[in-house]
Amino acid sequence: MPELPEVETVRDGLQRWVAGRTVASAEVRHPRSVRRHVGGGDDLVARLAGRTFEAVSRRGKYLWLPLDGDDVCLIAHLGMSGQLLVQPPDAPQEKHLHVRVRFTDGGRELRFVDQRTFGGVALDALIPARDRPDERVPASIAHIGRDPLDPHVDDALVVARLRRRDTEIKRALLDQTLFSGIGNIYADESLWRARLHGQRRTSTLSRAVVAGLLEQVRGVLTDALRAGGTSFDALYVNVNGRSGYFDRSLAVYGQEGRPCPRCGTAVRRTAFMNRSSFFCPVCQRPPRRRAG
Ligand SMILES: [Zn+2]
Repeated sequence: MPELPEVETVRDGLQRWVAGRTVASAEVRHPRSVRRHVGGGDDLVARLAGRTFEAVSRRGKYLWLPLDGDDVCLIAHLGMSGQLLVQPPDAPQEKHLHVRVRFTDGGRELRFVDQRTFGGVALDALIPARDRPDERVPASIAHIGRDPLDPHVDDALVVARLRRRDTEIKRALLDQTLFSGIGNIYADESLWRARLHGQRRTSTLSRAVVAGLLEQVRGVLTDALRAGGTSFDALYVNVNGRSGYFDRSLAVYGQEGRPCPRCGTAVRRTAFMNRSSFFCPVCQRPPRRRAG
């Protein structure tokens, strides 16, 4: 599943390849990929023709391309397996090609390919951001928190909100309304760097400890982004569905039984919300069970 660094890598690629170009025509080949577009596929196609993508923006794992002319954007979510590819018009059709956008310059087209169809695209209205009215965000995601790589994120506010939650710190990290775009992999890696067990309760952590954790979150994401950025010399924009290029740098995620890079203790795995949590039992002491 693409996480924030992968989606940011896609945003950067789309900004270079698609921003400033005018749509000649669009084609929706699978209705499920446009299920979040209120008017359906035909309406989406009709409204995209002749419009220019002004730029490519991102919040958490959502990408959007504002259209010229009015406050409307094309919003995309990659879901579990979605890819936004920039392909030559004569490139063979991908097996799971669901949406295709051709441009008036006759150059590379934008293709939305999605094997498991949890992702999709839609047109959405742009509205002023709650905390910065001069910034416009898609209405459907206006409630989502800024992500750690957003230059306008307010760390003090995020720290205060996290501590007020009184929940396990890993759950708080994954809560998209607090801070968006952090998935299971980067939550585990950040907690390891901060030497915190994911079951520690936010209310028991000092402001300094939570602020330190946010710094580690940002560090992990920045490192992953740097590792992924190199894949962009290729002439297409690609998300391979997993954080492949960052895999060799993972300290604990997926490393059960392997030595902790800091202390050598075997990494442990526990069940967590139908998934897994990975941690070092020495560097990240589990909290004591509370009575009751
Ligand atoms: Zn350790």
